[in-house]
Amino acid sequence: MEFGIITKENFKDIYDVPIKRWDPLSTITRTTDEFGLHKKKERYYGHYAYLSPIRGQRPKGYESIEKKSSIQKCSKTYWKEFKDVFTATTEGTPLNKDADNDRNDYYTLIITEDEKRKQNPFSGSPSEIEKISEKCKALTLINRYPAMARVIDPEIDDYIKKNLPPHLKLARGINLVTISRNFYPSSCWDLIPDDVLTGIFLSMKEAILYCILEAIERDYYDIPVAPFFNIGSEVGGSQPRIHSQVYIDLNGDGHGSRLEGHLQAFKQMGDNCHLCETTHGDTDRIILKTKFWTFYTAGSPIRNYHMRFHPNEHIRRFSQLNINQMKDLAKSMKLIFKALDIIEIDENRNILFNCCPYGYDANFHMFGDIIPHEVIGGAEMADDMRVARKLPHKAAAEIRKALEEQNL
Ligand SMILES: [Zn+2]
Repeated sequence: MEFGIITKENFKDIYDVPIKRWDPLSTITRTTDEFGLHKKKERYYGHYAYLSPIRGQRPKGYESIEKKSSIQKCSKTYWKEFKDVFTATTEGTPLNKDADNDRNDYYTLIITEDEKRKQNPFSGSPSEIEKISEKCKALTLINRYPAMARVIDPEIDDYIKKNLPPHLKLARGINLVTISRNFYPSSCWDLIPDDVLTGIFLSMKEAILYCILEAIERDYYDIPVAPFFNIGSEVGGSQPRIHSQVYIDLNGDGHGSRLEGHLQAFKQMGDNCHLCETTHGDTDRIILKTKFWTFYTAGSPIRNYHMRFHPNEHIRRFSQLNINQMKDLAKSMKLIFKALDIIEIDENRNILFNCCPYGYDANFHMFGDIIPHEVIGGAEMADDMRVARKLPHKAAAEIRKALEEQNL
C-alpha cells in the first residue's frame, strides 16, 4: 500500500486501505448549489477523518537529534554528514543496503524536479532511485506513507465498495512531499538559503498544477488542496529535514468545517475583502509588511503567538503565486522564524496555506497561518475556540523587536 497504490498483490483486507469517514454528529449535507459545485455527487461539510494504517509505518528520524543542544542544532558542521530517509532519494544510494525489503529505500516517485515535470502523479510504478543533479534545488515526491490512495486496481475497488459499510469509503487523493536537494535541518531555518526555500515553493506549485491537470483528465472535480509544513516532531514532522507537504483530496465530497467557515466568510464579504481592506488592528498587530506580503498576529489566535500572512494581491490559491511573491515569502519567513527563535517561541511550528479548492466558484483571498506548538486543553477541543494568554498586539511588538535586532 506504499505510495498510495492498491493492487491485487498488496491488497489484504478492507481495513488495510485508507478510509475516509465523515462524523455523523458534525456533518451537514449541502442542499444548495453554492460555490458552483458539480451536481453529480452528494456534498458535505463538517468533521471527517482519514483512517490510514500505513501512516503508522513511517520511519522516524528524530530520536537522536532531540537530545542535541540548540547550538548543535544550528551548527553547519553537525549537519554536514547527516543522513535522513530522503538522502537515499537525493543521492541515489540506499542508506541501509542490508535492510530487509519491507523498509527498503530503492524506490521513489518524483513528480517534479524543480519546475520540471517527471513521473505522472497517477503512476503506479515507482522508479529506482538515481542521484539527483547537484543543480536541482528541490523535488516533489509522492508520499510513501499517504493518508489517501492514489492508484487502485478496478476489481479491488469494486470489492472494497461492496464490502465496506456504507458510511465508510476508500479515501482517494494524492499526498505530496517536497524536499530540498541538499539537507537542511528543520530546527534551524537560518541554514537554508533563500533560493532553496524558494525552490521548494516552486516545486510544490508545479507539482500541484500537474496533479490537478491529470486529476481533471481522470474526471475528478471540486478538489480541496492543502499545502503545509510540519516543523518539528511535536507537530507531525516525522523527519528532521525541512520539507513541505500537500494534501490533495480527490473524493469530491466536500470539505471540512474550517474551510467552510472561510468560504462563507469571504462570500459574506463580497467585494469588500477583509484582507484587502483591513489595517490589522490599526497596524499594531502587523509584524512585517513587504511589497508582496503582510504578516501580522491573529486577532483571535488559535495558539499564543499565532501569526497570519497573506499576499497583498487578492489571489485564491498557492499555485497562483508568482516568482517574486515566492522569493519574498522565503526571505520573510526566514526572518520571522529567526525572530521567533530569538524570543524563544517553541521551535515546533506548523505553517498552513489556506486556499480555495479547485473547481469552486468562490471568492477567496489565500492566507497562511504560522502556528507554534502548544498543549491545549479540553475547552479548546470542545469548540472552535481558544483561550489565549498573550495579547496579539503585544506578541506583535515582541516579534517586531526581534526582527529589528536582526537588522542591527
Ligand atoms: Zn482580498
